[in-house]
Amino acid sequence: MLSIGSPSDPPLFEVSAPMADPRGPDTLEGVARVYFAHRSTRVILASLIPLVGVRIWLGAWRPWDAGIALITTAAWPFFEWIFHIVIHLRPTRILGVTFDPLPSREHRLHHVDPTIVDHTLMPPHTLFLMAVASVVGFGLLLGPGLGVTAAICLHLGGLANGWTHLLTHTRYRPRSRFYRWVRRTHTLHHFKNEGYWFAFTGPFVDVLFGSHRDPTEVPTSPACTARSSAHAGPSVPSEEMVSGRRRIGAEKELSDEVDQLGA
Ligand SMILES: [Zn+2]
Ligand SMILES: [Zn+2]
Repeated sequence: MLSIGSPSDPPLFEVSAPMADPRGPDTLEGVARVYFAHRSTRVILASLIPLVGVRIWLGAWRPWDAGIALITTAAWPFFEWIFHIVIHLRPTRILGVTFDPLPSREHRLHHVDPTIVDHTLMPPHTLFLMAVASVVGFGLLLGPGLGVTAAICLHLGGLANGWTHLLTHTRYRPRSRFYRWVRRTHTLHHFKNEGYWFAFTGPFVDVLFGSHRDPTEVPTSPACTARSSAHAGPSVPSEEMVSGRRRIGAEKELSDEVDQLGA
């Protein structure tokens, strides 16, 4: 459904690991420890917390603050969906220069091995740039008060995106019907065909735009043909892939890190 290459193009990656690390956390508390210890989450928080302080200090609340919160809440699932498609586009050559941005490269690594947190969450560099762009852009567009409100809403969307995505890549079993839907569609995106099911927090966007299909009617993509072996057991990615990368299963190391920061 999407131009991430024609069926004759060689796949840009091959799935080689399961959806979740079999040694990883299976409770909300365990996943939250991993999530809040990660530097990607901390980049968002380091920007969000001062922004909330600035917004309170600025005062002069208007009905449009609530309006902006409602609009960004409604628009966020669409933004995520578009962003996810963009990072799946094949590298392109423009004027002799190959355009293949960092979030795209990191996302391909995430598809190769979905158990590595560093690739599941957005790269800290990208989050930093998005935080700066949201503050400057919304500030210029809406002025100081409403601009900061809009930037705060975007940061909250980023937190929701990272949390939802990470949760789908753990052994945590969702109880709510909605979250079971989120997990199922994201699993299909990883193990059936990466050209469908792009939503994170709002799978209804896939329904609206036709990327939510009956999986029996969707061909298994070449990248997903290793699906059965990927499901067979714990992942064994190459050393190069894992080198310096933190895995979801590394709960002990992460909780130690949290303890040290709290000390
Ligand atoms: Zn994923
Ligand atoms: Zn993807």
